[in-house]
Amino acid sequence: MFSHAPVMINETIDSLILNKSGAYLDCTFGLGGHSKEILNNLDANASLSAIDQDQEVVKYAKKIKDPRFKFQYSKFSNIKTIFDSAEFDGILFDLGVSSLQLDDASRGFSFQNNGKLDMRMDQSNKISAYDWLNNAKESEIADIFYYLGEERKSRFFAKRVVERRKLNSINSTEDLAAIAYTGRNSKKHPATNIFRAVRMFVNNELDEIKDALKVSASLLKDKGRIVVISFHSMEDRIVKNFFRGKLDGDDFDSQLKSVGKIIKPSITEIKENPRARSAILRIGEKSNA
Ligand code: SAH
Repeated sequence: MFSHAPVMINETIDSLILNKSGAYLDCTFGLGGHSKEILNNLDANASLSAIDQDQEVVKYAKKIKDPRFKFQYSKFSNIKTIFDSAEFDGILFDLGVSSLQLDDASRGFSFQNNGKLDMRMDQSNKISAYDWLNNAKESEIADIFYYLGEERKSRFFAKRVVERRKLNSINSTEDLAAIAYTGRNSKKHPATNIFRAVRMFVNNELDEIKDALKVSASLLKDKGRIVVISFHSMEDRIVKNFFRGKLDGDDFDSQLKSVGKIIKPSITEIKENPRARSAILRIGEKSNA
């Protein structure tokens, strides 16, 4: 069994729960860290729904024997279908990867635990990191490294991928880490950008976030809140602009207004839980006015 320290847990509870008898939705159940604490802070007549696209998570969700709690295996892009006309007081997104995914070598997410390249959060997705890296065109790989990984040497690394797979397919996270290794000395592991890019591509992460934000406002009560914890600037920028009514160059009425300033984890939290390091929490509030 894996465990996962929920990021900015007190800050999340304080910003999300304004009505202790309300209805809440946790869109990133993971190992349930946030969900459990939300339940601890709600009254007996409240409710919490949760979803996650990782099948492994189902068994963790089943452990919560609480009549106020309901779990569904689903992606963000399905929440409109599932919840239809539900009205929530608060919706939470704790983006990024769970420890369940990162620490289990067989899920193929991490260059620190060698395993078969995979990186699918939803195991029913057709294309894994292995399939994509061993078949995609060099120019597509370069684009993904550049746009999603913000990797300046994207073309160089894409070329290395293609050269390497001519000899033998790229099977493991170690194989991919070796491709990204150049001997450069830097603070970050040299494979960080590339692993993130592949993961974001395989899971269609940015489109999922955009979809989720679009439907969230329609699932909130007036004055209901959406709380998003992002883990890098690209995600955070989408959230920030969305609250301002801007998405992919379009202007629209998001029905949300930003509440307060961004919140970051304390130094103590970062020391205890390095995963929290880059977290940024934003709050949006629905206002029909
Ligand atoms: N808050 C959780 C950890 C969440 S980690 C805890 O405290 O335990 C992020 C989770 O979001 C992962 O389990 C991942 O599978 C899920 N996730 C990411 N993108 C998703 C999407 N588009 N649809 C559904 N779940 C998603």
